[in-house]
Amino acid sequence: MDTDVIVIGAGLAGLQCARRLQRSGHSVTVLEAKDGVGGRVRTDLIDGFRCDRGFQVLNPAYPAVRDWINVSALRLQKFGVGAVVNTDEGKSTVAHPLRHPDRAFETLRSKHVPASDVLALIRWIGPALLREPLTGQVATQDQTLSASLDRAGLTGRLRRDVLDTFLAGVLADSSGGKSASYVRQLVRWFALGVPGLPQSGMQALPEQMSRSLAEPVRLNNPARKLKETAGGVEVTTENEVLSSRLVVVAVGPQHVAELTDQPSPKTHGLTTWWFHAPEPLEAGKFLMLDAAGDSGGPAGPIWNTAEVSAVAPSYAPAGAHLVQATTLLDRPDGLAEESAVKRDLARLYRTSTTDWKLITHHVVPHTLPAQPPPLIERGEQRIGDHTLLAGDHRDTGSIQGALVSGDRAARSAAELLARG
Ligand SMILES: Cc1cc2nc3c(=O)[nH]c(=O)nc-3n(C[C@H](O)[C@H](O)[C@H](O)COP(=O)(O)OP(=O)(O)OC[C@H]3O[C@@H](n4cnc5c(N)ncnc54)[C@H](O)[C@@H]3O)c2cc1C
Repeated sequence: MDTDVIVIGAGLAGLQCARRLQRSGHSVTVLEAKDGVGGRVRTDLIDGFRCDRGFQVLNPAYPAVRDWINVSALRLQKFGVGAVVNTDEGKSTVAHPLRHPDRAFETLRSKHVPASDVLALIRWIGPALLREPLTGQVATQDQTLSASLDRAGLTGRLRRDVLDTFLAGVLADSSGGKSASYVRQLVRWFALGVPGLPQSGMQALPEQMSRSLAEPVRLNNPARKLKETAGGVEVTTENEVLSSRLVVVAVGPQHVAELTDQPSPKTHGLTTWWFHAPEPLEAGKFLMLDAAGDSGGPAGPIWNTAEVSAVAPSYAPAGAHLVQATTLLDRPDGLAEESAVKRDLARLYRTSTTDWKLITHHVVPHTLPAQPPPLIERGEQRIGDHTLLAGDHRDTGSIQGALVSGDRAARSAAELLARG
């Protein structure tokens, strides 16, 4: 055998799996198809701007991040806890009153936050705040996000103007069809932590993880085929056939069926546009949500936007301003042209965007697994005598879910190896 375990895929799940196995004394080889580690968590450095491949944030409240990542080394630059909400009536800030006491008055008298909705929100999220996330197999009594918000009575403007728009952007899904149990977990962590961006971009997270591996990740090295043998597995790459006692397939949902007999889970996607703006913008450290559409939601292609460099100055050269804008691929205007996106940004920021320069844009069709109800959480990962499957689609579609899934796969693999 060339090694104890081959891990296919150097996303967060694969990297955590390899680190855990290495720590328990096993030899591990990690194969990665692309030219860098991180999978969905990568950053392009373009003319001094750091553009993550799809706008995303790191929440230090994730238990897996707290336990396994050196967060202080990442030097997180933190967002404001709240949002600027744009409607036909104007813009107003809805912010966490304890974290932003200077905005408490504006928030509490905002028409986006009626008392009946606040009570309904407490009914909806309260139980999840009081206990640790599920660790069972299937979330019982799960339903879609929309049905569960309706059931809690969360049907007013807090829902329409803020929650639906915010969650659609976070989940890359405007249908409200995701598992409510899954979304409650994400909201729980948003309530407990203040998300931010690492000083050198989101890719600093997987890079930190890969640095602790004894054998460097083999980049530009896609696995083409897996074959279980009597005592292990053979993995065929472009140039060689490697053998190991076990293999962990951590390739991201869209590639699962290419290497295994399991179906590829459905996914949802989004697009992130990155612009260089010459002047600072008024939303500051808050995300801006557009709820100016006729029945809530945005009036144009953009669901959320932020001046990322106001939060993370390291994301732009001195004096320059980096703006992200997110569109959703499940909408007809999800693939809007640059001109339409700039027009929409002019409407949202109420400023001319003629001088804004496009830096890059990322179309990410497989942002997150679909995860309809019921949420199957921490289910079986073993799919063959010598084959395990890991990735966010096996837990929850999130950084937390990917890390937990990789760690669980490593623990199962270590048990199988110990049995001989
Ligand atoms: C735009 C965007 C925004 C997001 N926002 C957030 C957020 O704010 N908060 C949050 O918690 N989560 C967010 N996520 C989700 C989070 O990034 C993912 O859940 C997590 O990174 C998934 O990790 P993974 O290891 O499961 O899969 P992946 O990152 O997809 O890793 C799979 C790896 O396998 C490799 N691979 C595929 N096929 C092969 C092969 N044949 N051989 C070798 N290698 C192969 C791929 O190249 C890739 O590197 C976001 C994701 C995106 C894309």
